[in-house]
Amino acid sequence: MSLTSSTKNNPCLICEDTSGKCRQGREDLSYWQCMIYADAKKGEIIGNFKCIGQIKNGLWAAFKPDNSQEWTEQKRLEWQRENQRRQQQKAKEDEARRRRSLSAIERDKSYHQLLSELTLHPDDRADLARRGFTAAQIELSGFRSIGRYQKLQSQYSELLPGVSGRDRLIIRDEGYLCPIRDREGLIVACQVRLRTLPTTESSRYRWLNGDGQTLHVFPEGCKAGGELPLAIFRLEGKPKGISLVEGTGAKPFLVSQRLNQFVIGSSGGQFCSSPVLLRQSLEKAELEVETK
Ligand SMILES: [Zn+2]
Repeated sequence: MSLTSSTKNNPCLICEDTSGKCRQGREDLSYWQCMIYADAKKGEIIGNFKCIGQIKNGLWAAFKPDNSQEWTEQKRLEWQRENQRRQQQKAKEDEARRRRSLSAIERDKSYHQLLSELTLHPDDRADLARRGFTAAQIELSGFRSIGRYQKLQSQYSELLPGVSGRDRLIIRDEGYLCPIRDREGLIVACQVRLRTLPTTESSRYRWLNGDGQTLHVFPEGCKAGGELPLAIFRLEGKPKGISLVEGTGAKPFLVSQRLNQFVIGSSGGQFCSSPVLLRQSLEKAELEVETK
């Protein structure tokens, strides 16, 4: 489903957010995903809307209009007061999240170490070969397999996204890790590709991240909550062009390899939720490709 973020001209109809945290359906304008009321239960009514379920492990709650209750002035005032309270709470959480975010250099060092402890499972190697990866490209990709709650040899910061109890990964399923590099080539995050698709999900890919850790990065000028990393893929030397590709794993990697492109990949194709990173990445791409 295609979505647009809340803006000053188009505030979230559930929480009145104007900062882009919440999202409206592009085709179905009555459909909203609200972050401020992400903890709403299915069937719960907020203002004129009813919660119809959770999105992305509860990062947003989905809403549709509900007119079953009379909308009085009293109710409107209570609703607005609660919105303000929640937005202040959210601002505090954003600040705490920013403080817990490891720098790109710290993440890069830890993820390099972590990936070096792991190998690639024959099933994952076969999957990549089936997609057309050469042996050299499989090596170059840096993808590494993980088991259920993968045990690690070294100790890691509890702030490193995806690590649990310092020496385990928090991911319950088997699959492989795809390192996510920023425009400077630093590994700032990993995505996991699950070997088997869970019956309740539509995508095999998810972020390597845990509760209370900060996957978001905070480039200068970004919104308070930070931005999800974008994945940059490039060959050595001068790229032939710039490509924006949905995803952060095998697909954008191959595009960059085969077409010699400076590729910017985004999880779920949500480029617009990382506007500062997208601009910085495009600026970097322009320099390298020597184009506008
Ligand atoms: Zn909202």
